[in-house]
Amino acid sequence: MLKDSSWEETAAAFEKARQRQPALSELLDFYEKLVKEQHAVTVNPASIPFDERLLRSRAGRGEPLLPRQEFPLDLPATEALFRTLCRLAKERGPEVRAAAEEIESATGWGGLDLQDLLRGTVAEEGYPFAVADQRGLDPELLNTLAEASIRPSLQAVAKTLGSFVENDRWLRSICPVCGSEPKCAELRGQELAAWRYLHCGFCGWAWPVRRLGCPFCDNQDHNRLQTLIIENHLTCKLEVCDVCRRYLKLVDSKEFIGLIPEVEVLLTPHLDLAAMDRGYH
Ligand SMILES: [Zn+2]
Ligand SMILES: [Zn+2]
Repeated sequence: MLKDSSWEETAAAFEKARQRQPALSELLDFYEKLVKEQHAVTVNPASIPFDERLLRSRAGRGEPLLPRQEFPLDLPATEALFRTLCRLAKERGPEVRAAAEEIESATGWGGLDLQDLLRGTVAEEGYPFAVADQRGLDPELLNTLAEASIRPSLQAVAKTLGSFVENDRWLRSICPVCGSEPKCAELRGQELAAWRYLHCGFCGWAWPVRRLGCPFCDNQDHNRLQTLIIENHLTCKLEVCDVCRRYLKLVDSKEFIGLIPEVEVLLTPHLDLAAMDRGYH
């Protein structure tokens, strides 16, 4: 999660990442500034109301605590972050600048309601793509800006609700807080006491699961699960399942210290390509 590491640790991870993948420097520079702005956001606790009885009853039934469409947003903080990130995007090359200016004017006087966009991004994965399509905006950029803007609020909610999660009894592969799929896995701890954690792609919560097993289809057959090392990249590997053909990145914090899963995921687009080349999705 964003604030699990201090800003200094995060900046150090970006610096190392640039040394390891100089070809991605420009992208990593942009993301470092973006994450710095996310770190600087203070979410108003009053924007996170929750019904303790409802949460306890869902937890008792083994259900995720809060489906994504029920996540509240600190709207003033989220809108302010969106506008800051638009300005950051304009500092990139001329192409991105032009796309960011179009998004700024659409959400300024152009009739695209920013609050609707942000709430829609919470409720439905990929919502900004549909909006971009209707309005002729850059879909990738709009999605990046909207998703990055809601993240501090989502993670503040997950942190607040996390105390209701009984991690050791969950062991399922959807997020115990919001029910979303994982975005990456991480090995933590030492040798026999090492645990595999899954990181939620929506709210950022991380929870322990079995070392072996596909998080997407529950396949436990080790003959049909593989861990692939691509181009000698040892800090982040690929876990693939030959039953459902899905893949997940596995960040190895057991062997390497100072890794931040979010940064490792950004640093490894070649792993996504390698997975897709092999027929995984
Ligand atoms: Zn989640
Ligand atoms: Zn599978």
